[in-house]
Parts: sequence; C-alpha cells; structure tokens
Amino acid sequence: MLHAKGPLLTVDVGERTATRTGIDTLLERTVGGRATATALAHERIPTDADAFGPANRAYLSTGPLQQSRMSFTGRMNMTGLSPLTGGLVSTNAGGYLSRNFADTGISVLELVGESDELLAVHVTDDGVEFEPVPDLEGAPVPAVSEHVARTRELGPEHCIAIGPAGENLVRFASVMTFDARAFGRGGLGAVLGSKNVKCVTFEGDSAPEIEIPDVQNEIHREAATSDDLMRRQGTTGGTEFINENFSLPTRYFEEYAFEDAAAIGGNAVEEKKYKKGSCSACAYACKLPTRDEETGLETEGPEFETVYAFGSLQGVGDIVDVMQSNELCDTLGMDTISAGVTVAAYLASEDAFGDAALAHETVEKIAHREGIGDLLAEGVHRCHDELGVNDYTVKGMEFAAHDGRVLHGQGLSYAVANRGADHMYASMLSLEYAGKLDPEGTLGKAETLVERENRNAFRDTGIVCAFGSDYVTDERLETLFDAELEELLAVGAATVARERQFNNRRGFDHGDDGLPYELPDLEAAIREYYDARGWNEDGTVPESAVEPLSAD
Ligand code: SF4
Repeated sequence: MLHAKGPLLTVDVGERTATRTGIDTLLERTVGGRATATALAHERIPTDADAFGPANRAYLSTGPLQQSRMSFTGRMNMTGLSPLTGGLVSTNAGGYLSRNFADTGISVLELVGESDELLAVHVTDDGVEFEPVPDLEGAPVPAVSEHVARTRELGPEHCIAIGPAGENLVRFASVMTFDARAFGRGGLGAVLGSKNVKCVTFEGDSAPEIEIPDVQNEIHREAATSDDLMRRQGTTGGTEFINENFSLPTRYFEEYAFEDAAAIGGNAVEEKKYKKGSCSACAYACKLPTRDEETGLETEGPEFETVYAFGSLQGVGDIVDVMQSNELCDTLGMDTISAGVTVAAYLASEDAFGDAALAHETVEKIAHREGIGDLLAEGVHRCHDELGVNDYTVKGMEFAAHDGRVLHGQGLSYAVANRGADHMYASMLSLEYAGKLDPEGTLGKAETLVERENRNAFRDTGIVCAFGSDYVTDERLETLFDAELEELLAVGAATVARERQFNNRRGFDHGDDGLPYELPDLEAAIREYYDARGWNEDGTVPESAVEPLSAD
C-alpha cells in the first residue's frame, strides 16, 4: 500500500530537544495523516493527561499524496487531545503548508512539553531551532506571518501560527496556516498556546521520493476543466438549497430556515470574490478571497459553515458583516463554527439576534478573555447554564450546520462521532441531500454510517480533500494506493476504533453518545451502530479490537 515516508520528529519545547525516530513499519500499516497521528497519540498521550498540560502532544502529519502533483491533496492533518471535548480530535486544513512540511523530510511532527517563554519553533531538514518571541505575545496571526517573513524570509505557506485566542486558552482556538486556513475544530490552537508555542515554520529540500501512479494526471486534468458551481462559490454554493431543505439552523436553533439566506449565500459571496484561491497543487481552486469595495474589508471566505454560524444562527443577514466575523476569527485564531455558535448563544441570552456589531465585539472579547468573553471562551457546553440557553453541543463540541433534526442520518452521526457534533466525521448529509438515503428516520442507517466514518478517516489519512470525491473515485483510490478499497477502509476503521478506545480510557462511554434533541428511535439506532462496529453495549471498544502499534 502506498504510504508516507520519513521519520517522526519529536520536539520537546520544555527541554528544547528534537529527536527523529524511524516509523517505517508504523507508516506501512497506517499510511500517514490522521491514521498515523492517531496511532501515535493513542500510544503516547497519557490517558489522564490534561489537554493544557505538558504531557499532551500535538501531531502534524501528511500522507503520501502530499508528494504528488495531484489536485485535491493540498491538505494536512493535525491531531491531539482536545480541550473542548476532552477526547482525541483530528482536524484538517488546506493551504500550502503540506509540501513545505514534506520538504523537511519528516512524515509526522510531534510537539510535547511546555516552554517557559513564548517560542517560535523552526523545523528544517538540518535540525530544529528555538527562537524566543516575547514581542509576539498577544499578536494576531498576520503579525506572526510578518515576523516570519522579516526574520526568516518565509511566506505564511511555511508556517502554522496561533493568535491571542490560542495564547489565552480559548477552548475552540484554531491553529492557522497561510493566515486564513484553519485547523479549526477541537481547540488545538489552545494546546499550542498551553505549550507557549506561537508558531512553527517548515523549510527544507529533503522530501522523500514517493512514486505516485499516473492516474494523478487524469484527476488533475479533470479538476482543471470542471465547471462545478463549487469552483466559483466554494462551499457557499449550497446555502439556498440547504435553506429550502429546512436544515439551516437559524437564531440559535429556534428555527430551521433563514429569510435572508440569499443575502449571505453563494451568489452574495461570489459577488465579493475578487480573485481565485486554492491549495497546494490543486487546480480545482475552490477558495474564496473576497473584498468589499465600500469598506475595503478583505478576507478569505466566508465558507458555508461560517455563513451559518455567523449568519443565520445569529440572525445576521448581511454578507459584509459575516465577512467581518470571518476575518476576526482568522486573525484572532478561532474556529468559526464553535465561535459563531457560542456568540449566537450569547445573542440568544441577550435577546439581540441580528446585532452584528455586538457579535464582532464579543468575538474580540472571547479571544482576549475580556468581560463576558472569559465565560464564552469556555464554549457552549460549559457556559450554557449561566447564559440560560440550551446546550447545543455533542461531547462539548458545538454543532455544524446541516440540522440533524431534519437529516436524521446526519443527526445519528453527530450523536456517535468520536469528535462530537462535526459534519465532516461521516458526512451522512451528502447522501441525505442527494436523495440516496431517506433523511427520515435513524434505524437501518448504522452500516452506512460505519462505512462513511471509515471512508472519511481514510480520506484524512491519504490525504484527499473532502471536496474531491467525484474525481478521486473508489477505483482511482485503489490505483493510487495500490490496494483494495476494503483494505483502505480497514485503515479508517482502525483509526475510529483507536480514537474511541483512547476516549473510553478517559471515561467516555454510551452516556456521551446522544443529542440535545429527540430523534425517532435514536437509542435503538445507536445500539445498531455499536453492533455494526462490533463494540460493547456500553459504547466501549473491546480491548482485543485494537491492535497495539509501536513506532519502530
Ligand atoms: S478542492 Fe478546494 S479545499 Fe480542496 S484542496 Fe482544492 S482548493 Fe483546497
């Protein structure tokens, strides 16, 4: 099976040491990306670790396709113990970092320990340098990029960075790359903040040779010539369809559709788009650099999930307001979904839906933990009681759009996903929107859900962008990886089981699988899911179901 190559680089920022360890056997079995990082995290993060403590480890990893010239591969994986959910999370970002990371010759970076001063960590193919950066304390993400450009002559495509939200341990702080691309979900930005790591740069010329089958060229050609709406409007192209489907949560989940959806949807975003945007090697170029000529505001996005979280969910119907929220989150370093849902909860408590100025002010306060922001920085699960609103989270993670109360298979996925209420864990929504699966009902969907979770886990392992599934077909995946689809899905299944077992050891069980609203037969459907997985009735993974995997 095709797999990533190169050692694991462990950087202890407390001890200021860097160690390279060969992990060839592990990579042969886990391919790279999310599967390899999860296997390492499962084995190396103590199950009683504090997400903000020195024992937590953050992993950055690529798959073999990050050495290709193929579209839909400009992505990277990040894994660690989440301060938001208390379990393992993996999150995935685009941009241009993947090739620069691979050029340092490693397959996985592991960050551990805790520095006593704010650091920039510089990874090259020659070694690792630790630079104290006290002047960057509290700096927004673009200021970190400016520092790196000035001192190392490297662009933001060589860098991951956190903003003030990460430093201030906001539980949904993101790790940013290329200024505007986010390792968003689960708060790994706060994990870097707890380690006092402001940024990590990657530079080298030592990428290992990986031979990628020629099918990469066909995929690339098709991506370049596609006339998909997504190439013009990115993920926002579906906003009005989703609204008509009554699955666009509105005014903190009080409603299912938003009267101003068109004003913040795909056409509105396309009107503001002023140039093409992409990720490494990707000719599909679905990103959305936008500008408002009147105010001069520039940002990248908003993507659909931001249109939901800072638009319909807050009752905000002006695309420029949503662009401003998007820019604030990117600059301050926060996941737009969790930040937007948390701000919406606050607007609900203040009876202030539609007040975009208050939303913007609140985003700033959260990032700096000022006033009410200190409470909101804990996320909805920890602050809903004080706000007097419902707890719209699963395992502590705020809901993505795509309302599970309407798309019941998606709802089931939210209920059981190891990551919490995230739409990318299984993406049952795609089948339900496309009419391939009846959205009504939860029973009889478990086998499909298991297959989707395994598929997405492998996708994040390879790594293939979620938006490339029409082009990177099953047959082409088999050719690319020189393996049967079942073998690839087995890598995904083992990854889901490792996440679950790690979480079980931290106390997660059946009681953590559920929803804050009722769905028909949900409890029985969750049992079907455990059965389909071969897990225990209490939602735990049998010890024997997870093969121990050691680094070489
Ligand atoms: S399809 Fe879009 S998000 Fe995916 S790699 Fe290409 S440009 Fe990036």
